[in-house]
Amino acid sequence: MSRFDKLVPEFVRSLAPYKPGKPIRQAERESGVRCIKMASNENPFGPSPKALEAIRAAAAEVHLYPDMDTVELRTRLAERHHLQPDQVVLADGSTALLDLLGRVLLAPGRNAITSERSFIVYPIATRAAGGKLLTVPMKDDGFDLDAVAAAINPDTRLVFIANPNNPTGTLLPASAVDRFLERVPEHVLVVLDEAYCDFGAHFARTRGLDYSHSLDYVRQGRNVVVLRTFSKAHGLAGLRLGYGFGPPELLQYLACVRTAFSVSAIAEAAGLAALEDEAHIRKTVENNAAQAPWLTQQLDQMGFRTIPTFANFIYFDVGEDAVGVAKRMQANGVIVRPLAAWGAPTAIRVTVGTAEQNRAFLAALQKSTARAAVG
Ligand code: PMP
Repeated sequence: MSRFDKLVPEFVRSLAPYKPGKPIRQAERESGVRCIKMASNENPFGPSPKALEAIRAAAAEVHLYPDMDTVELRTRLAERHHLQPDQVVLADGSTALLDLLGRVLLAPGRNAITSERSFIVYPIATRAAGGKLLTVPMKDDGFDLDAVAAAINPDTRLVFIANPNNPTGTLLPASAVDRFLERVPEHVLVVLDEAYCDFGAHFARTRGLDYSHSLDYVRQGRNVVVLRTFSKAHGLAGLRLGYGFGPPELLQYLACVRTAFSVSAIAEAAGLAALEDEAHIRKTVENNAAQAPWLTQQLDQMGFRTIPTFANFIYFDVGEDAVGVAKRMQANGVIVRPLAAWGAPTAIRVTVGTAEQNRAFLAALQKSTARAAVG
């Protein structure tokens, strides 16, 4: 009990903070060894070099407030995707946009729906707005859209769909989402969270699937918001820059509740440069496309259950307490994400790294699990 418990509303008191992957410096202090971080799905090649150059140039003007409407980057994103600038919104990370969507559409008495074992910001964004999150069971380790559609009730305002899903890496093909949207009533907004779209689109193409019609839905003015981020393929997670596409009338409300100047001038400049850095994105996506299947195969051979991924991380089951495994792996210099908070106490998510990082990860895993040590 603290003296603030009486002052803070019940729905805020019941919140737990987002627990991110462990920062490298903290892990190194704890373990006393150099660590590789493979816990937060960051870019193993670092930031786009073009973005770094733009950051240096923009640094000279940080005494000035940024353009609050981020007109240049919004216009560039709109042009690239054949949309109008008022169909684009920017914020300090796509997590910030999830929070804004919650604040604009939810309130006590209203609910949002997602799948179990999906992105852990969905419950926070929902509950911080006083709403209730309904989670439906998974199907084949991914979203069961029939179950989501069946869970919609008159108080539902939001549906969160991560595609590919974090942490399982599964993909919903475009046709499945097409069919789902036909069943969604007018009072519900569907959030298509495409944080891993660069990886998802590539894998879908090579596996003969159609990834997503999300931008068509936006062009058609449907009740859909598409979220994307510069944190993954562009390598700018530390800068905080995410964007959304959706109906202008709704995005205007997001702009009203957004913190003033939340996108810095440096972030906007870096985003503009990173968008043009096709070589960096290609290198990142191609490395992932080669390494993810290889890593999955190695994990399979070590006797772990894996889920084929469409993203830049792999979900696998170690068949023992994953928190203990992650601690031992950290002592061996590799930070991974145990998934107990997702209701999967024996599962781990590892970010796909460079070939060298992936070999270091496998060596650390070998030393840290009972099954691998025996096998
Ligand atoms: N959505 C999903 C599904 C994610 O996994 C992540 C990153 N962990 C995000 C959104 C957040 O990205 P950002 O860094 O833009 O807040």
